[in-house]
Amino acid sequence: MAVNFKLIGTTLVLAVGAFIGRGWRKEKVSAMGLSAKDIVIDKDTYSGVIIGGGPAGLTSAIYLAQAQYKPLLVEGKTPGGALTQSHAVHNWPGEKNISGAKLMEQIRDHALHTGAKIESEEVVSVDFSAWPYKLTVKSILSGKERGIKALACIVATGSIPNFLGVPGERGDDGYFGRGVSTCAVCDGIFYRGKIVAIVGGGDSAIVEAGYLSSLAKEVHILVRKEAFRAANGVKDRVLTLPNVKVHFNTEVQEIVGDGKKVTHAKIVNNKTNEESDLPIDGLFLAIGSHPNTAFFAGQIECDQNGYIILKKDQQTSKDGVLQPVMLQTQFINRR
Ligand code: NDP
Repeated sequence: MAVNFKLIGTTLVLAVGAFIGRGWRKEKVSAMGLSAKDIVIDKDTYSGVIIGGGPAGLTSAIYLAQAQYKPLLVEGKTPGGALTQSHAVHNWPGEKNISGAKLMEQIRDHALHTGAKIESEEVVSVDFSAWPYKLTVKSILSGKERGIKALACIVATGSIPNFLGVPGERGDDGYFGRGVSTCAVCDGIFYRGKIVAIVGGGDSAIVEAGYLSSLAKEVHILVRKEAFRAANGVKDRVLTLPNVKVHFNTEVQEIVGDGKKVTHAKIVNNKTNEESDLPIDGLFLAIGSHPNTAFFAGQIECDQNGYIILKKDQQTSKDGVLQPVMLQTQFINRR
């Protein structure tokens, strides 16, 4: 896997700093009508609380700690985030080949070294109706809950890719990380000259097919309906590429391998019920994802799919609640 995102930390530090700074200078926080003299700073009040212990959250912690904001990072159930599941990362600057778990351990160490506080807790609810913001966090180990307060918050909770739920996909006998992937930009490099399939008919499937076509020998797009959902302008170009083949009305029934790697997918045409084996080296899932934002419902503006709506400088609809930058999105949108 290759890491496909990076934080623009300076933006965060400046944005968090500007927000907190307004309070500490005892000026009115315009949106809230509050000033620092109205608030009680106790041991449970943090200048910056980062929600999420993946690369985005930890990088935010490094920048904020270096800028002397003494952040608290609530790392959630999966310290290091989804990247810890990756067996090999090939594009982290300075690391030619490193496991996701090792890389995240190093980044976590780095965050601690800069002075960030990291707690093995998860956020169960937030209350952004008054400043300082209130968060309820639960210990991963004991399940005990406690209340904390934050002058600023960074939301780095990530999103969870959707899976098919077919045999051979995940679990002990599954090939996730050994041929099954949810990120072409991350893992495509391992399929140079090989045969891959992408499941999905949305914009991600199209964009990832375009990317994979520059690496793989053959790219099969498996669409369950008889038409694409994708509206992306690059669709026409991608579909005329000589090594891209589309299979409409096609569903994956099982992902099969030799115990080490994927060898083929059992597919079925849902119109004719014809079953066949598609020889592949890799299967990419592009069937959507769901963001980890359920506990922000009613607190910050999200779209109908739960994605946070951002304003200028990564600001959410609440002053001082920010989201880190994901370069992947920018990269994909430019293709
Ligand atoms: P989408 O939800 O748009 O598309 C998901 C696709 O996966 C659909 O074709 C859907 O099929 C299919 N699918 C879902 N579940 C299954 C399943 N169990 N088996 C087989 N197929 C399945 O997700 P995307 O990730 O493509 O896009 C998410 C958002 O991001 C969209 O708004 C998109 O426009 C945007 N985006 C924009 C890009 C750009 O360059 N502008 C690039 C990438 C994404 P069906 O149609 O039958 O429901």
